[in-house]
Amino acid sequence: MEYQIATRCLYGAGEHTDKEKTGAVSFPIYQTATFAHPGVGQSTGYDYSRLQNPTREHLENTVASLENGLDALAFSSGMAAIAALFEIFKPGDHIITDADLYGGSIRLFDNVSEKNGISFSHIDCTRENVEAYVKDNTKAIYIETPTNPMMNVIDIRKMAEIAKRHGLLLIVDNTFLSPYFQRPLELGADIVVCSGTKFLGGHNDTIAGFVVTNVKEISEKLRFIIKTVGSGLAPFDSWLILRGIKTLPLRMEKSQENAKEIVAWLLENPHVKQVYYPGIEGSKGYEICKRQASGFGSMITFEVESRELALKILESVRLIQFAESLGGVETLITYPAVQTHADVPKEILLENGITDKVLRLSTGIEDSKDLIDDLRRAFYDER
Ligand SMILES: *Cc1c(COP(=O)(O)O)cnc(C)c1O
Repeated sequence: MEYQIATRCLYGAGEHTDKEKTGAVSFPIYQTATFAHPGVGQSTGYDYSRLQNPTREHLENTVASLENGLDALAFSSGMAAIAALFEIFKPGDHIITDADLYGGSIRLFDNVSEKNGISFSHIDCTRENVEAYVKDNTKAIYIETPTNPMMNVIDIRKMAEIAKRHGLLLIVDNTFLSPYFQRPLELGADIVVCSGTKFLGGHNDTIAGFVVTNVKEISEKLRFIIKTVGSGLAPFDSWLILRGIKTLPLRMEKSQENAKEIVAWLLENPHVKQVYYPGIEGSKGYEICKRQASGFGSMITFEVESRELALKILESVRLIQFAESLGGVETLITYPAVQTHADVPKEILLENGITDKVLRLSTGIEDSKDLIDDLRRAFYDER
């Protein structure tokens, strides 16, 4: 019998193998680089930690179970995960991506992947006809939903249909909602990538990333790549992410509750011109998000009336911290145009709506009253 997702956050796919030996309730950190062989041509199942390590393996099995995938691989960062995934493509391949992506992904695609002979069409998958961009050499569609930072919601089922029809892979970056709220593989995606640094780790203390798939050949290719390029997650960091995942459901629920209260406050605020949050009833992504996810998450992007006000808020918050990253227990505020998306060309930023008046908030698990008091102070008081 398979456990519910909240239970699997604690125990992974089932009883972990180590428990029989020692009874350890917390999975041990196997801080070892290599493993002794019982005999010539024999292996305990572990040979060298670049290939596999029991702590990383337990984490990978847990994440595979949460995403409902066949296999998950843990990398040293979200970007390491995406970079390793792109090793499955060859020079001459073409990939369609949504235009609104995490800035680091755009930097990887337009600099490293392009140099390696992969070409891209960056389009608005919420508005444009994706099929019109499919060419003979197109191999995949790559999306985030909700997107970073504009919170556009892309219909995963619809993208999966298009991908199937043309024999393409659908890759979904599931960082923003985490498998607790959204499981793209169940909706027809072939591959999920995510930054484990964010909601899975959840404490703003560890960098990690994942690729999850339910396609056997892709899992085999990725196992070859992780062992060859060596960007797998270290044992101690694997353990930190395992510990983070134990409270994923509690954190997702509490930070979402806080986000809803802050959204309600922002919507009433005369100095806020626009609030982008898929949980706003009647907003562009609301219905689709409701169909494909069980929550709206805790990421809020909003536009204030002037650049001056944006700067004042960033410099006046005291409890909320002005920092990159998201998905942790601490509430963070970011300035996408200058921080996470600094390397994206200005015209593209503006096309995507990322102006110098746009701020992105990742709500943590503080008391919402303190968060709103802090925002009020930042909006209305002197620095
Ligand atoms: C942060 C982030 C990444 C990159 O992950 P790192 O762990 O920082 O390397 C990728 N995608 C999204 C949506 C992100 O927010």
